[in-house]
Amino acid sequence: MKKETLIENVRTVTPGEDLRKSAILVRNGKIAAVYRAGEPRPSVADTYDARGAIAVPGFIDVHMHGACGCDTCDGDDPRAIETIAKAKLEEGCTSFLPTTLTVSHEDIMKAARNVARYRKTQKYAKALGVHLEGPFINPACCGAQNPAHVRKPDIREVLAVAKVVPVKMVSFAPEQEGGAKFAAECVKRGIVPSCGHTGATLAQLMPAYEAGLRHFTHFCNQMTKLHHREIGMVGAGFLIDDLNTEIICDRIHLCPDMLRLVFAKRPLEHIQIITDSLRCSHLPDGYAFEMGGLKVMLKDGEARLVEGGNLAGSTLWINKGLKNIAETTGLPLKDIVRTSSWNQAIELGLGRTLGRIAKGYTADIAILDRKTFDVKAVFVDGERRI
Ligand SMILES: [Zn+2]
Repeated sequence: MKKETLIENVRTVTPGEDLRKSAILVRNGKIAAVYRAGEPRPSVADTYDARGAIAVPGFIDVHMHGACGCDTCDGDDPRAIETIAKAKLEEGCTSFLPTTLTVSHEDIMKAARNVARYRKTQKYAKALGVHLEGPFINPACCGAQNPAHVRKPDIREVLAVAKVVPVKMVSFAPEQEGGAKFAAECVKRGIVPSCGHTGATLAQLMPAYEAGLRHFTHFCNQMTKLHHREIGMVGAGFLIDDLNTEIICDRIHLCPDMLRLVFAKRPLEHIQIITDSLRCSHLPDGYAFEMGGLKVMLKDGEARLVEGGNLAGSTLWINKGLKNIAETTGLPLKDIVRTSSWNQAIELGLGRTLGRIAKGYTADIAILDRKTFDVKAVFVDGERRI
């Protein structure tokens, strides 16, 4: 029996289009039609009146570690991923990549098994696979990652994880021994190699770029700064258009002027907004916790290492991230909305099914308050889950 829902009285914002007073017909988990203002709507028994709220393609967060006190690496807690997925859904996220930290191989394997178990139900936001952030990073650019667990790039370790759960992305430092070969091995297997936690010069990046590396982990954070005699990874991000740059859009990790610069100078189709959220997101100030053996404290909405004060990640909700970008850049929502899901979908090979509100696409839709961007409803595979 076919299952239909009509989302009425909605402002549909999808890459390239902003349709006020529109309606979206969802049928059997897919978008069957989008009706413009004035176009006749079919009569459907099940309707959702959005009351003028905004419908955007469900967010896809490709870099996030945790929420609500749980972390992807809580291998001994079988409910950790489900708790995180529920929190992500509350942000309007319909898909995400649980992201591991630089921890022991055994701990990464435990996390992978937990994600694989959650994927059997995909009860809340869908875990598309995992993002391994490390352990193959530059020990001098750890940020809040624990240098004790840093290892040299080794595809065998990634393949061991991939036997348990799809590995979609690996953040590593390309200047490490074997970096370019590692990038090529990832590309060959449909895994996105990403340059991150890196001290590379532009020359050190290029062999990996030539091997197919096209992604930058949290652009500007924990990578070589722009200098006029060595433009570093920040310079590379501005020089090379087709690098898909992750942006933590909490206005803390990148100041508002840097966000404006990135959105003014980089092609929109190669920007991806992320949260890099930690277990302290969705929790109040004063919450303290350990991350890869390092102590972190949440104060004034910022998560910093107790020792040294490095930023450890964010507490950001991705719906608020989109609002931050809209307010900071002043760019039209129909343009920036591609940075919150479709760009990610394309890079993950899912650009024909996820990331747009258009006929034939999976009905993954977030309904946001038109002023606050608070989440009012979320549809996953056409089913209303919030
Ligand atoms: Zn991270």
